[in-house]
Amino acid sequence: MVRWNSGSAATVSPLTDRRRLLVGLAAPGAVVPRRARASIDPFTLGVASGAPSPDGFVLWTRLAPDPLAPDGRGGLSSPVRTRFEVAADDGFRRIVRQGEVWATPQDGHAIHLEVGGLPPDRPYWYRFEALGHASPVGRARTAPDVAADNTRLRFVVASCAHWESGWFSAYRHMAAEAADLVLFLGDYIYEYSHRPERQGLVRRHDRQGDAVTLADYRNRYALYRTDPDLQALHAAAPCLVTWDDHEVQNDYANRWSQDASTPTAEFLRRRAAAYRAFYEHMPLRPWARPRGPDMRLHGRTRFGRLAEFTVLDGRQHRSPQPCQTAASRRGRVTLCDEMEDPRRSMLGPRQERWLEERFRRADARWNVVAQDLVVARLEQTAADGRVGHYTDGWDGYQANRTRMLGALADARTPNPVFLAGDIHSFWANDLKSDFRDPRSPTVAAEFVTTSITADNPGRGLADAEARNPHVRFLDLRSHGYLVGDLGPQRLDVAYRKVSDRRDPNATVSTLRRFAVETGRPGVMPA
Ligand code: FE
Ligand code: CA
Repeated sequence: MVRWNSGSAATVSPLTDRRRLLVGLAAPGAVVPRRARASIDPFTLGVASGAPSPDGFVLWTRLAPDPLAPDGRGGLSSPVRTRFEVAADDGFRRIVRQGEVWATPQDGHAIHLEVGGLPPDRPYWYRFEALGHASPVGRARTAPDVAADNTRLRFVVASCAHWESGWFSAYRHMAAEAADLVLFLGDYIYEYSHRPERQGLVRRHDRQGDAVTLADYRNRYALYRTDPDLQALHAAAPCLVTWDDHEVQNDYANRWSQDASTPTAEFLRRRAAAYRAFYEHMPLRPWARPRGPDMRLHGRTRFGRLAEFTVLDGRQHRSPQPCQTAASRRGRVTLCDEMEDPRRSMLGPRQERWLEERFRRADARWNVVAQDLVVARLEQTAADGRVGHYTDGWDGYQANRTRMLGALADARTPNPVFLAGDIHSFWANDLKSDFRDPRSPTVAAEFVTTSITADNPGRGLADAEARNPHVRFLDLRSHGYLVGDLGPQRLDVAYRKVSDRRDPNATVSTLRRFAVETGRPGVMPA
């Protein structure tokens, strides 16, 4: 008999001892390790939903009574039977789906439950039960029918949340925005920890240093997911997610570490561990489950006739950064001919062809490309005072950018909009068909969100607005997120700023608003 109660830790099922045996933790009378008690709530990481479609979504949880266990197994070692319920009301009176799934050690006791066959464009509530405990309740929503004449959609956009650099107040405020969709654009975790002497940090990673092994990456995701503000955001709405570099390693490219001395075979083992932990902690379709170091992340999600979101993968398939030195593969601000080499690609040839096909077939009113890095050309100042371009971003892959924006213009894709993160600052940019000519046509608008908490950039970008006429807005001092409201004629974007990343009770305010009107590509003040 399942008892769907508040999920409070006070409730211990009479089956606890039997379940202890079932999950292979410890027999009654045996010495129970401090970190392995089945009577502890396994839902320490919350719940999430993702990949919304007109008839369903993916529901996620990961059982981890001991989320930071040193072996990365979350305090469990055997399969655990887990019940789920999906209801049409938040009181769970109208149950539309229920059943059982197994959480297995092979998937780190993560559950990726595909729910289908539901009516479109409706809210649903869901919860899990395992080991005598109930999970928190999450809210999901089916997408409108592909042919629906839907007239509104609200999305929120996040990137770059370093655990140590600030509290996740921005996530708490995002959860309160009543969004239909949450977009995570990368650096959802940071694989590195700040140096011990670094001042002003609000908290420390559980495991210091860089994540390298599967246990390291699981520990890092689990730590972030224990945050109540991030849990609230995932429980509030379904998400789509892409990654950037820090889900694996700073400035990695494909199979190449930023450290030139690391052999590719060794780095691919690290990438496999990182991708596996990423999959285990995200509400992705089971087809995304990685195979060794490879994982399909790019895809598209449709919301009726109003909008389609295309999610890109800017890391896994890219050429190495241009202009490298023998000592380092890290991105840097410089100039070299290699930046324009047409053989180089950010997305890789297959994803490029796929994207061009998407542009050609696009028939939604709004076509939003959600991806990790700033697309606009940015002339900026290097530490040595010389002017150049940043090699790790789209400026380091200029031929790919030209092909992408050219394909968009050739296809006459309706109302394209790009979203980006990574740069820890707010931007609004016009994307030009030829960035060397400020009078060339604007192909699309680009809205760049700042970091949730990660450090703002240094002085090298201070003159970027003056140097780059297609930059319509720049703010280098804020942390926060974007809110997008799509309508039949107009996209409104609000830049939301938190009062202080070091204040757990930080408030939020609107820094600026911009808009895009249908048929008029580019950013408008609002
Ligand atoms: Fe970042
Ligand atoms: Ca990044």
